Amino acid sequence: RRHPCRAVPASSSSTSPSARGMKPGTPRQLYPAKEHCSRCGLCDTKHIASVKEACAFLGEGMGRMGALEEVVHGRRRNESAENDEAMFGVTQDIFYATNTRPQAGVQWTGIVTEMALRALEEGVVEGVICTSAEENDRLAAKPILATTRDEVLSSGGVKPCYSPTLSVLEEVEARGLKRIMFIGVGCQVQALRSIESALGLEKLYVVGTNCTDNGDREGLDKFLKAASSSPETVVGYEFMQDYRVHLKHTKGSTIENDYEEVPYFCLPSNHLAHGVIGEPCRSCFDYTNGLADVVVGYMAVPWRRMEMTKHATYVTVRNDRGREMVDLVRDRLSRERVEDHRGIIGREGLVVQTVEADDLAYFGRGPDQGAPRFVGELIATLLEFLGPRGMEFARYSIEYHYIRNYLHTMRTFDGVKTKDASQHIPSYAKAIVEKYNKAGDVDKLLKVE
Ligand code: SF4
Ligand code: SF4
Repeated sequence: RRHPCRAVPASSSSTSPSARGMKPGTPRQLYPAKEHCSRCGLCDTKHIASVKEACAFLGEGMGRMGALEEVVHGRRRNESAENDEAMFGVTQDIFYATNTRPQAGVQWTGIVTEMALRALEEGVVEGVICTSAEENDRLAAKPILATTRDEVLSSGGVKPCYSPTLSVLEEVEARGLKRIMFIGVGCQVQALRSIESALGLEKLYVVGTNCTDNGDREGLDKFLKAASSSPETVVGYEFMQDYRVHLKHTKGSTIENDYEEVPYFCLPSNHLAHGVIGEPCRSCFDYTNGLADVVVGYMAVPWRRMEMTKHATYVTVRNDRGREMVDLVRDRLSRERVEDHRGIIGREGLVVQTVEADDLAYFGRGPDQGAPRFVGELIATLLEFLGPRGMEFARYSIEYHYIRNYLHTMRTFDGVKTKDASQHIPSYAKAIVEKYNKAGDVDKLLKVE
């Protein structure tokens, strides 16, 4: 594979992470991308020498997505507005799937965990770079190189905060492993793809997950305290397609059936507008993990009136390596066609309303309290029946996040990280902004102070 971002070979690096003081635990402000650093872990390795070309938040940052897609998938995504690739990325196949025999402790039905187990046990890879949890904190990320079944299983379940997963590359190199699976999110995968040619691997399989609105561990605490009546027992949560946040609690918690459901509209938006979602995640344009070989996520699956974690997830196969991973677990998958309902309330109006409400909260002009419970339930129920569902809900979520992040990027990057903030924004995200800016509505928001 030819890389446009020529990575400096590992052996020629003279800047060790320790020489720079870059190691897990170092405050983000000291990393090259400073407050925009998502702690992907690259700078905790000798590959920090390539940070200017590899970091998703320096120089052209995510503006490099198209060129990297060509290298990784052999072509760029089709960016025409009528084509779903413009939002979901390069796609060979897309479908809903459920793992019929989930392992214990997985987030949804454990398709990603199953791929990792099979790849390891069948000798396709020698190790899996994945994210386990800290011993005393089940939600805090601890990246590991898993080479046994138990180690893979220890990584089941989401850790909804930054993870310096690429830091594990040092161990891969030290142990001389050559066939590796990497499980991670978009900003990590972009950095990984940018230095892939310098790693000397024989095979690299990248299994991605969707990711948006991430942040640090403290931000996660702030969110859980606002959203849950028992934040200390939460093991996972998701913004589901019934317009409610579903929070799963430890077995035997004080919450009825160990599940809590809170309408989006009941969350205190002013309070959560700062200190929860990290700066990089407000400048991220890779929700769908465009450079992974295969991506497994929830976003495009309708609410099915069952426990959150029993839902199907949607699988996006981007290339032949991704297909290889799906084939490994084919006998465990129950597969369905994707659903796509436009709804009576079209997504475009919903996108505009969500962006405007978010922007008000960002400037402290939103409501201090969430809506009363009965009002929140009513709005959520109306939207559940009349709003977009399935793939259309995913398009709503992508468009809203990319416009919100466009505003943030233009406000905070200009003259700071790049000569021109718009360099950081991929063309597919700019096209979404242009669609909503025909009457200058996005520009108007940009002028608000
Ligand atoms: Fe380094 Fe990753 Fe932070 Fe960029 S995001 S500065 S590559 S650790
Ligand atoms: Fe990285 Fe984007 Fe996820 Fe933030 S939202 S952790 S920047 S992939």
